[in-house]
Amino acid sequence: MLSDGRTEDELFSFLQDARRSDLDPRYILSSMCTLPHPVAQRAHELFLETNLGDPGLFPGTARLERLLIERIGALFHLPSAGGYATSGGTESNLQALRLARDQRREIRSPNVIVPESAHFSFRKACDILNLEMRTVNMDSSRRMDASDASAKIDASTICIVGIAGTTEYGMVDPIRTLSQIAEENRIFFHVDAAFGGMVIPFLENPVPFDFSLPGVTTIAVDPHKMGLSTIPCGCLLTRDPDLLSILNVDTPYLTVKQEFTLAGTRPGAPVAAALAVLDYLGISGMRSIVRGCMKNTHRLIDGMETLGILRAATPDVNVATFACTKVPDRWKVSWTRQGHLRLVCMPHVHGEQIEEFLSDIGEIHA
Ligand SMILES: *Cc1c(COP(=O)(O)O)cnc(C)c1O
Repeated sequence: MLSDGRTEDELFSFLQDARRSDLDPRYILSSMCTLPHPVAQRAHELFLETNLGDPGLFPGTARLERLLIERIGALFHLPSAGGYATSGGTESNLQALRLARDQRREIRSPNVIVPESAHFSFRKACDILNLEMRTVNMDSSRRMDASDASAKIDASTICIVGIAGTTEYGMVDPIRTLSQIAEENRIFFHVDAAFGGMVIPFLENPVPFDFSLPGVTTIAVDPHKMGLSTIPCGCLLTRDPDLLSILNVDTPYLTVKQEFTLAGTRPGAPVAAALAVLDYLGISGMRSIVRGCMKNTHRLIDGMETLGILRAATPDVNVATFACTKVPDRWKVSWTRQGHLRLVCMPHVHGEQIEEFLSDIGEIHA
């Protein structure tokens, strides 16, 4: 029931109580989100009321959204890429499959080729769009088996999906081979780099996963994960800058006549925050963050194996998985569908926490 109002002091002590029940981020090893960078917080506050759903009212903020897409396009080897800021990987993946479907309206029972390792957002997207999801096996390194993908394509296949940085094991699928398969079969190829898109370009030896491969049609990437922005900020990028217009609907009472986005009202604040982080840190700053996360990931794997707890995979990005069933209580960890312990070394997880975790787990596994 709505009260007659309360004092600000009372209200904020109530809100702070709720906040105190949230977990201490120092012990969160299960999440792909992290603490936003201080410049992201500052930029976010500056754009609190901005609405990208009505860009004519916020032309300055809309310019930042275009800049964000341009920056990420350049990072993905195509500064002229199209795209827009979404609410995250789920929306980007859904919109990519919508694009693929609407390009092939003549197909009556469309199917999409998706690796077994795919994020659950593809289940939602296929359900909403009424698409058959064909699941592709993994190879022994836990990457998508490209020959099985090839075998599952038929005349009703509208899209192939590859993952650059899988949510559970941190693997990058053979994107180059998949790109060739997509080209040969003239099929839409969507790369889900929601997690890896803000990691792979900053690695010492980046594997190709982006528009440098000619078969790649669209890419999903989430600045609200390794991009250290505030939540929610995802991006969908398209090779063809006009591709999204096939989703246009008329928007009678807004400052624009049409829109292709899924959401109507869209926050400008996290978009400004995402751009702020990239511009502030630049390539070298992002490299140094990614280097730190990868170093922690490798230290964690070495430390666990020294304790006799073996890795489940040798990851391409900062996700470590283990054959292990018991973890000390104070740590918040996660488990894969196959029952492996899963730890994500995000920027808020520092070297000291890794050592503390190793010493805690060493005690119960001694
Ligand atoms: C996180 C993630 C998603 C979903 O993104 P949300 O921002 O949670 O909607 C999709 N795909 C991959 C590979 C992810 O890691």
